[in-house]
Amino acid sequence: MIIILKPGAPREQIDAVIEEVRKLGYDPRPIHGTHQTIIAAVGDETTHHTLESLDVFPQVERVLRIQKRYKLVSRESHPGETVIDVDGVAIGGGNFVLMAGPCSVESEEQLMQTARAVKAAGATILRGGAYKPRTSPYEFQGLGKEGLRLLELARKETGLKIITEVLSERDVEHVAASADILQIGARNAQNFRLLVEAARTGKAILLKRGMSERIEEWLLAAEYILAEGNPRVILCERGIRTFETWTRNTLDLAAVAIAKMESHLPVIVDPSQGCGRADLVRVLCRGAVALGADGLIVEVHPNPAEALSDGQQQLDLAGFAELGAEIDPFLKAAGKTR
Ligand code: PEP
Ligand code: MN
Repeated sequence: MIIILKPGAPREQIDAVIEEVRKLGYDPRPIHGTHQTIIAAVGDETTHHTLESLDVFPQVERVLRIQKRYKLVSRESHPGETVIDVDGVAIGGGNFVLMAGPCSVESEEQLMQTARAVKAAGATILRGGAYKPRTSPYEFQGLGKEGLRLLELARKETGLKIITEVLSERDVEHVAASADILQIGARNAQNFRLLVEAARTGKAILLKRGMSERIEEWLLAAEYILAEGNPRVILCERGIRTFETWTRNTLDLAAVAIAKMESHLPVIVDPSQGCGRADLVRVLCRGAVALGADGLIVEVHPNPAEALSDGQQQLDLAGFAELGAEIDPFLKAAGKTR
């Protein structure tokens, strides 16, 4: 930490800050300039008391943090890229993954038809919400346990791995019993008790970015999972809320590039929630792949016009087949294989 004192702060006030730094467990190294003094406080910022509170001294101008607030998710702690093995499907470190399926699991026929089609188009992981976080309590909330049963059935028939959202701590145990990957949604992105409970299952976790979550906060949410002893985290950019109204959210591809620079974890993109428009999904996928995303999670429905949730943003089966066929040159450019 660096503490910058106000110009002309009297010596006894500087000494008071130095004394406080020592009291809080740091080794204070003052540098007295002609106008201003700065104090370098040597110590481990992640284990010691934070010195940011020293801002309350009127003679302190600013306190600067040197170390990052996250440790385990950072590239410094883990050179190279993490590869997550989901029962034989590798994600990260050059292994690209295509996840696809309906926003919500609606019926056996809808799920099976979608599962067979997305598999034929190259997906290896089937998405489908059994528990749905809906803005209105009057909208379709998901089939719950029946949805999980259908997902298991689809896995059995197709061999696809399953990703599904866990909405609450109470559901963690039984959702984890069915899922290969637990999805933590944007609305729960900083529900820390849920993150900890999900982490404890040892399952791979896809952590969406919250709608107004800063990149640092997103990485710190992932840190909760790693700190619990579960390193199997996949970060997922799904758009943030901005002033723009032509898209449902603003897909922040810069955040994908930054998350990949900062962290060793795989980072994937959800263009469906990211823009909320089926007509933009494929072009956003191509962009995401070209810039180095480790995977895509795409909403696909046999008949989007009749979908019980998010119909406007779901690709139909033919649209997804075209997507599956057109991404290879972009994967090659990014140096990834699938
Ligand atoms: C979803 O994947 O259908 C979903 C609700 O995602 P998000 O949490 O990103 O809104
Ligand atoms: Mn959705």
